[in-house]
Amino acid sequence: MRRHTAVELLLDAHAELGEGPVWDHTRGELLWVDVLRGQAHRLDIDSGRDKAIDLGQPVGAIGLCASGNLVAAVRDGFGIIDKAGKFSLIAAVESEDPMNRMNDGKCDSRGRFWAGTMAFDAKPGVGALYRLEPDHSFVKALAGVTISNGLSWSPDDRIMYFIDSAARGIDAFDFDRETGRITKRRRVINILGPTDSVPDGMTVDAEGYIWVAVCFGSAVHRYSPTGQLDTVIELPISQATSCCFGRKDLGDLYITSAALNLKPEQLAREPHAGGIFVCRPGVIGQPSQLYGG
Ligand code: ZN
Repeated sequence: MRRHTAVELLLDAHAELGEGPVWDHTRGELLWVDVLRGQAHRLDIDSGRDKAIDLGQPVGAIGLCASGNLVAAVRDGFGIIDKAGKFSLIAAVESEDPMNRMNDGKCDSRGRFWAGTMAFDAKPGVGALYRLEPDHSFVKALAGVTISNGLSWSPDDRIMYFIDSAARGIDAFDFDRETGRITKRRRVINILGPTDSVPDGMTVDAEGYIWVAVCFGSAVHRYSPTGQLDTVIELPISQATSCCFGRKDLGDLYITSAALNLKPEQLAREPHAGGIFVCRPGVIGQPSQLYGG
């Protein structure tokens, strides 16, 4: 197991709950969200300029669309952010339940956008995972989820990885890219770390290894597809929330974090909580996939 400590603060964002990093290759921007503040952000990597788009409700994740728009998983369901930054809901999800909101999400190789739900208070089992088709219809792919997180696919596109943070591990499904069907759920990785730490967002690199943000564990871990801990990236913040690869060569690893619920003395110990961090771990990521709707 390697330890990697050469991590830099990329943006002292002071996010409350920074999440959902996505690399926009065309614009050279890192997209991310501040969940409870209801903001999507575009960070221009070369200039360091960060721009927020207010969506008017909590946002769990965003994805790039082939059209140049963004797709978003928000409190009330799925929506589109057009190029002018205007948000509109395209599909209401669990809108009858004001206690639930959408959380992490990601696009698959066939232009679908996957995102799950959770209760604002993380009540066990009331969330689900949904698959939004390019025609804006959606299906419930998985029920009984507590904190839906961490989607990603293997480089051969045959495995979809999924995290229910409350279950403290990473599960794999056989993925049928033609239909989007997921089958044969199994546990592949049990997260190593402090007992109160939980897996949050994740990404799979070009070698098929899995990078996962360990929230309350001050780290990002890299695991082999068979569950061996390979690398630990140590962070100066406790609540690592998600990660993705980016930059021209896909060799930067960007890591989001949260300052949510930190007491004043904890904030004094980690003044950059809510920041976005970067390191170059020596492997490259897979390109971002696009929503087709
Ligand atoms: Zn998350």
